[in-house]
Order: sequence, then C-alpha cells, then structure tokens
Amino acid sequence: MESTAANPPARLLQVALPRPLPALFDYDASAFPTIEPGQRVRVPFGRSELWGIAWGWRDGSDLDPSRIKPLVGCDDGQPPLPERWRALVDFVADYYQQPIGEVAAMAAPPAISATRAERAHRRFRATAAGQAAAALLPARDVGRKLIAALDAAGELNEAELRALSSRAGAALERLLAESWVELALPQAPAETAHTLTADQTAALDALRAETGFAASLLHGVTGSGKTEVYLRLIEDQIAAGQQSLLLVPEIALTPQLHARVAARFPRACLHVMHSEMSDGARAMAWAAAQSGEADILLGTRLAVFAPLPRLGCIVLDEEHDPSFRQTEGVRYSARDVAIWRARHENVPIVLGSATPSLESLRHAIDGRYRWLRLNARAGEAKLPEVHLVDTRVFRATDGLSQPMARAIESRLTRGEQTLLFINRRGYAPVLSCPACGWAAGCTQCTANLVLHAADRRLRCHHCGAEGQVPHACPKCGNQDIQGYGRGTQRLEETLASRFPQARLLRIDRDSVRGREHWQEQLDRIRRGEVDLVVGTQLLAKGHDFPGITLVGVIGADASLHAADFRAQERLFAQLMQVGGRAGRGDTAGEVLIQTAQPEHPLFAALKAHDFDGFARSQLDERALLGLPPHGFQLMLSADAPELQAALDFLEAARRAAQALQVDGVQVYDVVPMRMVRRANRERAQLVVESRSRPQLRALLRPWIANLYRLRLARGLRWHVDVDPVEV
Ligand code: ADP
Ligand code: ZN
Ligand code: ZN
Repeated sequence: MESTAANPPARLLQVALPRPLPALFDYDASAFPTIEPGQRVRVPFGRSELWGIAWGWRDGSDLDPSRIKPLVGCDDGQPPLPERWRALVDFVADYYQQPIGEVAAMAAPPAISATRAERAHRRFRATAAGQAAAALLPARDVGRKLIAALDAAGELNEAELRALSSRAGAALERLLAESWVELALPQAPAETAHTLTADQTAALDALRAETGFAASLLHGVTGSGKTEVYLRLIEDQIAAGQQSLLLVPEIALTPQLHARVAARFPRACLHVMHSEMSDGARAMAWAAAQSGEADILLGTRLAVFAPLPRLGCIVLDEEHDPSFRQTEGVRYSARDVAIWRARHENVPIVLGSATPSLESLRHAIDGRYRWLRLNARAGEAKLPEVHLVDTRVFRATDGLSQPMARAIESRLTRGEQTLLFINRRGYAPVLSCPACGWAAGCTQCTANLVLHAADRRLRCHHCGAEGQVPHACPKCGNQDIQGYGRGTQRLEETLASRFPQARLLRIDRDSVRGREHWQEQLDRIRRGEVDLVVGTQLLAKGHDFPGITLVGVIGADASLHAADFRAQERLFAQLMQVGGRAGRGDTAGEVLIQTAQPEHPLFAALKAHDFDGFARSQLDERALLGLPPHGFQLMLSADAPELQAALDFLEAARRAAQALQVDGVQVYDVVPMRMVRRANRERAQLVVESRSRPQLRALLRPWIANLYRLRLARGLRWHVDVDPVEV
C-alpha cells in the first residue's frame, strides 16, 4: 500500500525491533485498526521482514511519509505486553544504554502462544482419605473420576487431569481443599512453619510494617533462617491475594527452593522460570504470571521481566551473586532492575544474603535500605570453626597437606562427609613442556588450554575450543610433557588413591550435565551415599547438606592477588558460602583452608565470622580510591578481528567523551583487555569513572549517542557496560 497525499493520514506506530540501534522504528498501522501497544507485530525491514513489539503511537514522524512502510502482520494469539513491562524495558534501555529493541526482545516471552504450550507440570496424587472418600461419591462425580484416575496412574499432572473432564479444574480445587488429593513433589521435605527466632520475628515485623515501596537488606549468615522469612512474606501475599516474585541467581538453586516453596504452599499456583526451560514451558510460566494466575513466580534473572498484575512483593536471594549480572548481549543487573521495578510498582523488595554486596551494604549503612539482621543460626546448628593450614609449613603433596589429609581421614572414620572446594575444573590448567617451556595455548584466545584427563582432551574454558593431547612437545619433540596445576579431576584422582575406601563424587560443570542429573547428585549427597565431594563454586551456593562436617578449601590464594578490585570481596563471600555448607546438621562443622598467607586480614576476618569488619575495611579502601560503591563506573569495550581496530575505535570514543567536557568525570586510557584474544577476536576497553553518579550520567547519554555516529571498521563490535562487575 503506497501512501499518497490523497490517503487518510497514516496511524503511526512505533515498533521496537531487535536491531543494535538505540531507536524505535515508525510504521503505518492503518491496515490494523485494532492493534494495541505491547502486541507483537511483523514489519518489513530492509529487504526482509522482522517481528517486533508495538511500542506506542506517534503524532508525526521525522521520516518522509512516502518512506513509512505499512505493518504486514500482527500476532493476536498472545495478550499485549502491559504498559508496566514496557516501562521496565524503557528503563533498562535508558539506564544501561542498551538498544531498546534488543532489550525488548530479550525481556519478551518466547514467541509461542501459551495455549499451544505444554501445560503446567504440577503433579498430583490421591491421598488415603481421598481414596476412602471417593467410594462414597456419586458415580458421575468428577472428583470421583479424578481420584480413580490418580489411583490407577499413581500420579498425574494438571493437563492429564483436565483432559478427563471439562470440569476437572474446579473439581481439583475442591479435592485439594479437602486434602483428598495432594501435590506429588519430587523429594520434597515435609515443610512446616517453624516457631520464629527473635531475630526472624523482628525482621518480619519490620517487613510487615511496610506499605508500598521499601528496600530491605536481610543480612544473615547461611542457615540463619532467611528463607523462612521469605516464606512468611509469601504467605502474607497469598493471603492478601497478591503475587510474589522470588529471584535466585542460578538455575541450580531452583529445584531445592522450588520443592521447599511447593511443600509449604501446596495449594498455591507456583511457577518456575529460567533460561534452560523449553520455550513452551517458559511461555506457559509467562502466561500464568501475566494472567495473574500464578501466586508465586520463582526464577533466575530473566524472570525479573515477567509481568505480574497482582505483584505484592519481590524477594531476591543471594543478592551479592554476580550471576544476577548479565555480561553478554544486553548488559544489565537483575538486582538493580528488580529494585527499580519494586519502586515503580510500589511494592516492597527484600534482598537477602550472608555476605551482601558492598553496594547494597552501603545503602544499608546510609539508611536507604532497611538493614535487617539475623545474627545466629536458626535451630541448633552452630557456625563452623575456621582453621588455616600454612602450606609454607605443611607442604602440600598432590594438593593435599598433611593436616588436611588427617582431617579427611577422621571424618571418614566417623562416617561423616567432607566437601573439598577447588575453584578450577578439569585436570590440570596448563599442559607444558619442562624442556623448552612450551605450553598448550588456545589458538583463538589468550589463554591456556585445560587438560581434561577423563577423555584425554585439551579444552579452552573461554571459547570451548578442543583438541587432542599431543604425544610430544610440538616445539622440541620432548615426549615428557606434563600437566601442571590442579583442577577438580586431578584432586579427585588424588583422593581416590589416598582414600581408596571412600565413596567419591565430583561436581563441576563437566560432571553435571542436565538438571535432572544435578538434582540426583545433590540427593545422593544428602542421603549420605557419598563420603567425599570434590566441587567448584557450583556447590558453594545455597545448598543444605546436613551430613557435611568438614569443608576443605584448596587453591584460594590466587584470588588474593587478582587485579580485579572485587576479587577479595568475591573470595570472602565464596568462602563464607562454602563454609556455610558445613555443620548444618547436629554436628558442628569445620572449615580448613590451605594457604601460603595465613596472616592475610581476609582470613582473620573469616575466622572470626566478621563480615562487617571485612566489609568496612574494603569500603574504606574503596572510598579512598573512589571505587564502587564510592564511585561509579562505565566500561566501553570493543572487539574486532584485529586489535588495532578496537584500539582506534576506543581512542575515537575517548576523544568524544573528553569533548563533552563533563566535570568530575575521569576518562582512563584505552587498554587491551587482560585476556586480549577471545574466540578469535581481539579486545580492548576504556573505563570512565566518577564519584558522582549524576555527573557520570550527564556524560553517558550524549556520549553513547555520539558513538553510534562513529564509522566502524569491518567486523568491529562495541558494547557499553554501566556499573560493570568486572573491569
Ligand atoms: P537461610 O535461608 O538463611 O540459609 P533457612 O531458612 O534455610 O536459612 O534455615 C536454615 C535451616 O534452619 C533450615 O533447615 C530451616 O528449616 C531451619 N529453620 C529456619 N528457621 C527456623 C526456626 N525459627 N526454628 C528452627 N529451625 C529453623
Ligand atoms: Zn618442548
Ligand atoms: Zn579459546
């Protein structure tokens, strides 16, 4: 349809398209009179067509009317994305200066109509009372029919039950209310509400006193009963007919929490959302959230975008965890987006952690967040004792010092479990030749290849490249090349030969394939079917293993000297977390850390369980240096097939920043990244810093707008990272 002057004026629709440009695109929607903002629309773009999201109406366009093309299609199978969702996307696009269409594409549900998607996988079974009662019901009663089917099958899911009768939904509600049918949960412990401790009561009272937006930091050691507080809050929401959003940093944390929440609220509608679900299942959860059907949405960072029309509160667990930050594609922090969302929707938000991020801690200290503390562990469990093994005195052979070996031995004798924590997977991080110094490197990255012993392969942990282990040094022919350093596989091998009687389990990204498998391994640990667990930080997060009484830490020293200013903060959090695995049962736990620097203040703080002391000294140091949270940063990065192109672009960007002459902003030099080459692309970065966020933001918008006007060398890509977590 060509628009000419004779035609009625076009209805101009702005559309968000998944293109790396900071703009919405104008289209003529005259042919679709019922279209609404928030709907998915199909538009011509260049020589092809794209799906986008209708954003809003426009009065006029800067474009010549003859160049405004008409929409070609519209998907009305899904309800439009609500105004609040668009506001959230607008915020992310602006705050993080990411292309709006890309943010929208990332934050939108999969393009599948939920009615066609898989039904929820809540599973049900008949109770004994239900079986007895069913016999007394009229033969044609739908409830009787459902119980009979459940009896025959053992368990059925909602879709299967609904298939039995058009009135199955209502009947199921009734059966649940009568406790004739119950949720069939995988491994769900019987979850009953505890009598709250004084700390929990105080925290909950404070949280309940809030109306509308308020941010609270629930700060309590592992096992202090934070989850119990979340559950009470969620209970309040359910009673008030409101929805709760529960965010966790890692997919691996969802099954356990899912089981716990489901066991506590068997009649609530609980949905899970994370990135490894099928599109169908995710669309399903999304639809339940958006329609208001879901009472609780439990998910990883992308769930922060799910519309919840009855939202009553947001809970974000392990708030310090870097996984809340997306570092590829659209760069944003789900924690910070959640806070904005809570404010925008005027609901309270609770951030929970044993080791809050220094950013959140500073807000708490300054009174912007309410600081709620749970000081002791709930129930009987005590905090573990932390001991250091000085490896300058007790040399480690094959990674294990004598005191460590003895501690393991004593646990084995007593039939207790040990967790050994080593933050490196694979067998040996370097394969090299002692004769000439050759080391196996990745051809695509500035990184060594890691030796994996199980299948005799070399793997790059940065780009995934793989190769065979050479028989001899490719440089000098020496046949005696060796793996140096230690990863999980090698430690596993050492333990197997030192403790042949022990039942061993290794847990890292290589051993855990698929969620089912992961859950199964966690269950094996919990059932006491293994004696020794070797694992990476995958294991350090939020899991509860009552049988583990010893946590050994190997190779933590590298982080003490890392160039990243957040390395110590992360190490402290990790060691606190991993230590939190010990002694949650009736036996007190012990944490044993091998280090060549036992005098380091970080360890002293750790021994004293003194997060506050550690955090304050870090905050003082950061204040002195103007680093976050006492300063604010932007990072502009560029990558290209050739380093020079990246450097040139960033140099031009640097001049553009300086030309804006914003006071109080420091623009650093352009530097190649520490790992210059990754997946065959060479990378450089430019950091901009200020002690004032408003000043930094005054620079940000015009600066980024200017960058889109720079000419790009072939193959060059650039990204901006606002509040980067790693510089
Ligand atoms: P966190 O989330 O802080 O790690 P949890 O809420 O998981 O702590 O609680 C740790 C353990 O203590 C759990 O097994 C939980 O069931 C138990 N627990 C929590 N609150 C209480 C309480 N008030 N009394 C007794 N046990 C409790
Ligand atoms: Zn050699
Ligand atoms: Zn590589």
